[in-house]
Amino acid sequence: MAQPKYRIATIGSHSALQIFKGAHDEGFETIAVCKKGSERPYKMFNAADDVITVNSYADFPKIQGQLIKKNAIVIPHGSFVTYMGYEEVERQWLKNAGFKVPLLFDRPKNIDRLVIVKFMGAEGGRGYFLAKDEKDFNKKIRPYRLKKYVIQEYIIGVPLFIHYFYSSLTNEIEIMGCDIRYESNVDSLGRISARDQIVLPKIDPSYVIVGNIPVTVRESFLPRLIEMGEKVVEVSKRLAPPGLFGPFCLETILTPEEEIFVFEISARIVAGTNPFIEGSPYTWLKYNKPMSTGRRIAIEIKNAIKMNQLKRILH
Ligand code: AMP
Repeated sequence: MAQPKYRIATIGSHSALQIFKGAHDEGFETIAVCKKGSERPYKMFNAADDVITVNSYADFPKIQGQLIKKNAIVIPHGSFVTYMGYEEVERQWLKNAGFKVPLLFDRPKNIDRLVIVKFMGAEGGRGYFLAKDEKDFNKKIRPYRLKKYVIQEYIIGVPLFIHYFYSSLTNEIEIMGCDIRYESNVDSLGRISARDQIVLPKIDPSYVIVGNIPVTVRESFLPRLIEMGEKVVEVSKRLAPPGLFGPFCLETILTPEEEIFVFEISARIVAGTNPFIEGSPYTWLKYNKPMSTGRRIAIEIKNAIKMNQLKRILH
């Protein structure tokens, strides 16, 4: 039987430009599902062959019929899965992989060191604050009383985001790139001297993401990073068979002692791959042609179609 003509679809935001470019490079037509008013980049950059507009992402199920008719393969990204974090299974996963993880405090009374208080939900770092003890916590939580939060040990070091791709077709893991985030206002506080910070009435750091900056890590870290990716995949196969496949990211903090703490895992493409539409230093070494994570996803789909194994890489 002839294969149907598959198209690649995703929500128009997050890493959709990259996903569509990669799909085009591999010969797929693309469909952008956009919230009204957010269509322009997908037209301007020739990213979407077809745009479906919805009033809100909650309407996504209503257009499923249209997508099925078009043989669309939908790629999930950060706008689908706003937050996975902190669930028990995630911590189990990270711990079973043997990673150092920041301590969690189940109640404010137990805070005995510097902690970061993070809110769950789609607001991306807004309102996060640091606290040094219970009293400090109680004062700072006041405006956010009704929100769900977690209290996590604050690790002092450099936050580094490592992007991986695991092919369940070939059993191979690849490092696709690394990034650091640029967050408002925490990344601009260093521009205000301590003297001025003290006299200004209320500057608390916040972690609202503005963009991503590419990083090439010290080469001697690479063996550890590769091993970490392998561990994550291996443990996922035990915890939730058939396990993780495709792109994923480890969110880490590297301390001056060269310890690597993992504070989160994203089991999908992350926006930190966006600076690498042309490829990263690592994908350049491996492929010798522009290779983004978006394009790597399209190649995996193409290979799965060729091998008649599409079911293995779809949910
Ligand atoms: P998240 O919402 O968990 O991705 O965290 C947003 C930002 O908060 C990160 O990019 C880091 O800058 C910072 N951050 C999160 N968790 C920690 C931690 N345990 N220690 C230090 N910084 C953190």
